[in-house]
Amino acid sequence: MKIAVVAIQGNVEEHISAAQAALKEMELPGEVLPVRHSGTIPTCDAIILPGGESTTLGRLMAREGIDVEIKEAAAAGKPIMGTCAGLVLLAKEGGEQAERTGQHLLGLMDISVDRNAFGGQRESFEVALEVSILDSPYNAIFIRAPVITSAKSGVEILASFNSQIVAAKQGNVIALSFHPELTEDFRIHRYFFELVE
Ligand code: GLN
Repeated sequence: MKIAVVAIQGNVEEHISAAQAALKEMELPGEVLPVRHSGTIPTCDAIILPGGESTTLGRLMAREGIDVEIKEAAAAGKPIMGTCAGLVLLAKEGGEQAERTGQHLLGLMDISVDRNAFGGQRESFEVALEVSILDSPYNAIFIRAPVITSAKSGVEILASFNSQIVAAKQGNVIALSFHPELTEDFRIHRYFFELVE
């Protein structure tokens, strides 16, 4: 199995380590490739879009032509997981902040999002979160996290916090407000890899 981690900016090393650890736990042979340029994504089975700064990530992905490759991969049914800023990029609608900054969006999920919905860096927090795909709570770490403000039919809500949607899935595309790569609990990465055919 070949896993692409978009490595333009943000929590890249953490996602690579978490993906490698999850594959190891699952006893699945595979490699995890950091992707900075076009050409690699079409050879991969699943794609991870890390957190970081969504405006920068969106702009650089478009410049490198990675955005088009991710859309093609999604159309081919390959699993895609976006965390934090990655969630913002997956949305069809980016809200007021995204419009103001001319945010590039991949538009792979019928969701609207609100960036930095919980405030700035100092408002970062951890919470034991009920996630529908897991059988016990997940220690979710939120850092300048976005939320999903609305989701159309076809989008499955995986988790909410304070009445706000913080995890969702549409087809094989998963969006998380929090950072599954910053804990030692690899259940979400494992669930994601199980989606690979
Ligand atoms: N708030 C950031 C953004 O929208 C995302 C923060 C993160 O990925 N940790 O760009």
